[in-house]
Amino acid sequence: MRISTITNLAYVLTVGLTLLSGGSFIIATHYADRERDALDLAWKVDESVEGLGRAAELTTEDARLYVFTGEPRYLDRFQAALSEERERERAVRLLREKGLPDEELAALRTIEADAEILDAIEEAAVSDFTNGAADQARAALFSPEHEEAQLGLLSSVRQFVDLVSARTRGQVEQASTQAGFWGTVAKSTLALTALVFLCVLYFVLTRRVTRPLLRMSDVVRRLARQDYDVQLLAHGRRDEIGDMNEAIQVFRDNGLERERLDAERRQDQQTKDQILQLMHRLQACRQEGELAPVVSLFASQLFPDLSGHLFVMNTGRTALSAKSSWGTPTLSGEEFSTLECWGIRRGRAHLSDGANSDVRCLHLAERDESSALCVPLSARGDTVGVLYFEEADGSAALGKARTYVELIAENLALAIANLQLRDRLANLAVRDPLTGLLNRRSLDENLADLMKGDKDDPASLMMIDIDHFKRFNDQFGHDAGDYVMGQVAAIITNVAGQAGITHRYGGEEFAVIFREQDGTAALQKAEAIRHAIETAPIDYQGQPLGAVTVSIGVATTEDNRPKATLMQRADAALLEAKSSGRNVVVCDWSGRANRRLA
Ligand code: GH3
Ligand code: MG
Ligand code: MG
Repeated sequence: MRISTITNLAYVLTVGLTLLSGGSFIIATHYADRERDALDLAWKVDESVEGLGRAAELTTEDARLYVFTGEPRYLDRFQAALSEERERERAVRLLREKGLPDEELAALRTIEADAEILDAIEEAAVSDFTNGAADQARAALFSPEHEEAQLGLLSSVRQFVDLVSARTRGQVEQASTQAGFWGTVAKSTLALTALVFLCVLYFVLTRRVTRPLLRMSDVVRRLARQDYDVQLLAHGRRDEIGDMNEAIQVFRDNGLERERLDAERRQDQQTKDQILQLMHRLQACRQEGELAPVVSLFASQLFPDLSGHLFVMNTGRTALSAKSSWGTPTLSGEEFSTLECWGIRRGRAHLSDGANSDVRCLHLAERDESSALCVPLSARGDTVGVLYFEEADGSAALGKARTYVELIAENLALAIANLQLRDRLANLAVRDPLTGLLNRRSLDENLADLMKGDKDDPASLMMIDIDHFKRFNDQFGHDAGDYVMGQVAAIITNVAGQAGITHRYGGEEFAVIFREQDGTAALQKAEAIRHAIETAPIDYQGQPLGAVTVSIGVATTEDNRPKATLMQRADAALLEAKSSGRNVVVCDWSGRANRRLA
C-alpha cells in the first residue's frame, strides 16, 4: 500500500475519531447541564416552599404576640410577615408552571390551601382583636382549625420537599450516569485517536520511511563509490519508497552496464593493441616462413579459448597445408584441397557452426556441436591461404573473435602477398627466367663470396657450353632452342645436386661453383653431367632433336691455384674442350693444360 494511501486512511480515521470524541463530549456536557438544572430547580422549589412554611410560622407567631400583648409593633411585624407570606405564595404558584409531576402539584395545592386557611384565621383574629374581641381572637388563634391547618401546612411542605428531593435525586443520578458514559466514550475515542496517530506515525515514519530511507542512502553512497555489489531493497513495494528503489535499481543497472561496456572497450583496445603489434611484426618479416610462428604466437595470446591453423596455398594452387598451429585444433585436417573449403570457394569468411545452419567445410571432422571459422587470406585478388579457428564444444568464443580474426586475416594476407611479391621480384633480379637458374649477376656475387672465404678451403668451378647450339635454333626454331636450354639446365642442376651452385652464365653457357670440393670430385661431377646430357633423350613436341652434348672446362683451387683465376682458368679449359672436339671435359691441373676424360 502506498504511503499516501496509508496517510489518507489514517487522516480519515483520525478525523472520524475526533468528531466522535467531540460529539461525546458535547453529549456528556449536555447531561451535566441537565444534572445541574435539576439540582437548581430542586433547590429553588425547596427554598420557595420551605420559605412559605417559615413565613406562615412567623405570621402565626406575630399574630399571637399581638393578640396577647396588644402592642402595635407586633401588628406591624404581623403585617410584614403576612405580605412576605403572600410573596412566597405567589412564588409557589409560579412553580406550577415549571412542569412538576402531578403528585408534587397536588402537594403544592394542599400547601396553598392550608396557607390560605391559616391566613384567613389569623387575619380574622387580628381584625377581631382590633375590634375589641380579644378573647375571640385569642381563641381563634389556638383553635383546633388553626392547629390543624398549621400542622397540615407543615406536613405538606415536608411531603413536597421529600417528593422533590426524591425526583431530583433520580434525575441527577440518570444525568450523572449519562454524562459519565458519554464522558468515558469521549475520552476513549480521544485516546484511540492519539493511539492511531502514534501508530501511524511509528509505522509510516519508522517502518515504512526511516529504515528504508537509511538503507537506500547507504545503497546510494556505495553506488556512488561504484560498488555495484551492494544489495538493494527487496522488490514489491508499491509506494514512493518503492519508486525510489526502482530508480536506484535503474541507476545500478546503468552503472553495471557502463562498467561492462568500459571493460569491453578496454578489452577491445587491448586486443587491438595486440593486433597492431602482430601487424608490425608481420610487416617486419623478411621471409614467408617467418610469418607462421609469429601468427601462432599472437593467435594463442589473443584468443586463448580458440585453437587453429595457418594454412598456406601450395604453388600449384590446388591444396593448402598447415604452416603453424595454436591451441589444440582437432577438427580440421592439416592438408586439404582448395575445393574442400567453403571459405575459399566463397572468397569470404565461412562459419561452419555447431547448429549446422550453413554448409560445413569438407576438411572438418563431423562433430555437430563444434564450430569452425575459415577466413580466406586474399590480397590483390589472389587467395594465398586460410586463417582457421575452431572453438571448444559449446563455447561462444568464435562469435566474439570473428571481427578481429577477419582484421588479422586481411593484414596477414597482405603480408604474405607482399613477401611473395618480394620473393618474385628478388628472383627476377637473381634468376634467369628461361631456365630458373641463378643469373650472371648472382655468379659474380657468389664468386666474390668465394674469394672472401678461407683461402685453404677447396673450391672448384666448371664452365659448360652446349655444343653447336646454334643448330637447334636454325634447324628447329628458337622455341626448340629454348626447350633444349631448359632441359640441359635441369640436368645440370639435378646432377650437380646440393654440392653445386648452378648459374646461367649467358647464352648457352653455364657455370657451376663447387664449394669445399676438390678438383677430383668436381671433375667426376662434370663428367657425370656431360654423360647425363649426352644420353638424355631430348625430343621437342615429339620430334627428335638429334644429339645434345656439352663441353666442360673445370678449374680448382687445389695445389695452391689462386681463387682469383678460377673463372679465367675454367674458361680456358672450356675453350680447350671446344677446340679439342667438343663433348669433353677438360681440367686445368695435373701438369697438363688440357686433359680429355671422355
Ligand atoms: P659452339 O659449339 O662453338 O659453342 O657452337 P654454338 O653454335 O653453340 O655457338 P655460337 O656462339 O656460335 O652460337 C650460340 C647461339 O646460341 C647464338 C644464339 O643465337 C643462341 N642463343 C643464345 N642464347 C639463346 C637463347 O636464350 N635461346 C635460344 N634459342 N638461342 C640462344
Ligand atoms: Mg655453344
Ligand atoms: Mg657459346
